[in-house]
Amino acid sequence: MNWQRVVIKLGTSSLTDDFGRISPPKLWAIARAVQVLQLELNCKVVIVSSGAGAAGRERLGIELPLTLPEKQAAAAVGQTLLMLDWAKALAPEPVAQLLLSASDIKERERYINAKNALEASLKLGAIPIVNENDSVATSEIKLGDNDTLSAWTAQLINADALIILTDVDGLYDHDPRENKNAKRIEIVKNIKEVESFAGNAGSLRGTGGMVTKIKAAKIASEAGIETVIIGGGGAGIEEIARGNITGTRFLAKPKTSAKKAWLSQQDESGKIFIDKGALKALENGKSLLAIGITKIEKEFAFGDVLAIICNNEVVARGLTNYSHDALKLIQGKQSHEISKILGHKDYDEVIHRDNMALIKEKDD
Ligand code: GLU
Repeated sequence: MNWQRVVIKLGTSSLTDDFGRISPPKLWAIARAVQVLQLELNCKVVIVSSGAGAAGRERLGIELPLTLPEKQAAAAVGQTLLMLDWAKALAPEPVAQLLLSASDIKERERYINAKNALEASLKLGAIPIVNENDSVATSEIKLGDNDTLSAWTAQLINADALIILTDVDGLYDHDPRENKNAKRIEIVKNIKEVESFAGNAGSLRGTGGMVTKIKAAKIASEAGIETVIIGGGGAGIEEIARGNITGTRFLAKPKTSAKKAWLSQQDESGKIFIDKGALKALENGKSLLAIGITKIEKEFAFGDVLAIICNNEVVARGLTNYSHDALKLIQGKQSHEISKILGHKDYDEVIHRDNMALIKEKDD
């Protein structure tokens, strides 16, 4: 395996015992595997670790169902327990705790901040341990499951692979707990073909099931990152260091620029329709100016992601310098007219080239 950077995602069931307590034997076996990957493959590892909620509930002696503030408190308590154990298990390497939420992925500036923090931690020799910021994130602002978080983390560090460790050794065509003829899928080339195998089975204490794992594989694949789903705890990960993957491998699409991968996977807040002249300018590497805009749709604000459409086709996506209200006034106008119309002009470009990804171009 020629991997230089991997993200390992550990579900709650991979880290806790039947009572929800962090299980030192499980965690230490994984820590050992991380060290093997680092020493034998010279591979940098980022861990996405669940288990805070379960550990916190166990420590506080409370059980589901809980109110939202109680869940937040459990996560706050459990997160410290989790990090204490990781710090001990991975010593002498320092560990770096990063708690992210959906806005750290969706807002470009915060995304770059998270990326810089991860890069610096890796460069300084720390092992980043990532979890969702469950003690402040409520459901509207949550990614909601660590499978999705791990796929974004893999993008953040431009990983070669995302390893999702779970309590089954891969994706099966039927639920292996119910059907003994179920077959494990070894390699997935086209994710669409396996989506129907996911079922809804999740483990007792975790959040995801196969559905979120497949979704994660899709996010990673778009950015050119392979995903493997394996079982077997720390030993399963160590096998990978020896070149054996007993699990399901999701092959990735070709690597694309990090910016393009990010832009192409964000939900758009609005739409901008452009004429053929503007499309030509974009294809020649230029920014989008107001003059080429024929119509806008939906409400959006400065910095939002917009889809750029020409002839009924999305041709690009980018971050807008102008809100919906401002753009309504300046669409179709020359850049030098903007300050007269709006009373000020912060930007010549509506979407700057640096903040745009063409959908069709080969490389950008
Ligand atoms: N962030 C949650 C926790 O640490 C886990 C979410 C998940 O496993 O998907 O408890």
